[in-house]
Amino acid sequence: MPSDAVPSDSLTSLDGGVDGYGSAIRKRENTQGRDLSYPPLPEPLTVPVYDNHTHLEISDGEHPLSYREQLDRASSVGVRGVIQVGGDVETSRWSAACALIEPRMLAAVAIHPNEAPALDAAGTLDDALAVINELAGQPRVVAVGETGLDFFRTGEEGRAAQFRSFEAHIRIAKENNLALQIHDRNAHEAVIETLLKVGAPERTVFHCFSGDADMARLCADHGWYMSFAGNVTFKNASMLRDALFAAPRNLLLVETDAPFLTPLPYRGRPNAPYLLPNTLRGMAAHLETDVSLLSAQITANTELVYGRWDAEPVTAAHDDPGPDPTPRGGIA
Ligand SMILES: [Zn+2]
Repeated sequence: MPSDAVPSDSLTSLDGGVDGYGSAIRKRENTQGRDLSYPPLPEPLTVPVYDNHTHLEISDGEHPLSYREQLDRASSVGVRGVIQVGGDVETSRWSAACALIEPRMLAAVAIHPNEAPALDAAGTLDDALAVINELAGQPRVVAVGETGLDFFRTGEEGRAAQFRSFEAHIRIAKENNLALQIHDRNAHEAVIETLLKVGAPERTVFHCFSGDADMARLCADHGWYMSFAGNVTFKNASMLRDALFAAPRNLLLVETDAPFLTPLPYRGRPNAPYLLPNTLRGMAAHLETDVSLLSAQITANTELVYGRWDAEPVTAAHDDPGPDPTPRGGIA
């Protein structure tokens, strides 16, 4: 889920599945006033990159794309693979299961900080964390996330649960020697304090980095990675671009957070991993560096954080569409 989702970005559940083409299991409901067509394919990158954070479990747009269609489009423009990120038990299971059959996908699993309070109130947070811990041990699950703190969407009453859940996720990441993907919205200081108190995993990533240049320098001091999303291209995002400039190149990552945070000039339309080159080119322009040099650096960083996409083989043939390729659950 995005770092700057608006309240109208609610999601509904779909009857999807891992196999087949109609496989998303959530649907983005924010359709009012948006252009729901997918933007055109960008010019392909010469040096390939990976999308460090995406949500292919969420369908969006007038004609939603299955995760395989998404990955085919991405491959065609030099986006070679993705980290598919879960935010609750169901989407984490889906992410882990898809990664097992899809060579271009690795998975991250977690309970999102905005999901933790309701689970805690229902008395099921510990059960959910136990599932995340179990999934964290599966092949091709390479990160725990997205986890963290969100003081924008969750009020005072939910904070104790967020802290408890975040701390548990940090421990799960360390026990399983996985990277940690952090969601930090309006909670910079508390996130940093928690990481220092519990002890950050060796590979810690701020997904959709939202701090300023000072915070980028602080992250750099601790060796924490900063993953920039499409909002770094927005006109009003000069603070983010200053942070990008302050971040050491060896700690830079790039992501889409699709279907949210579509980079310029397509802000508001459905986002997808194939639009990563737009964000990368915007970053390279701001850093006054060559796009291929930046791609090579970010790909090297990405593989240091998560390993290689072909490090563990998939357990099923990629071109097997499964027993039921018919779109289900309202997915066209
Ligand atoms: Zn996300």
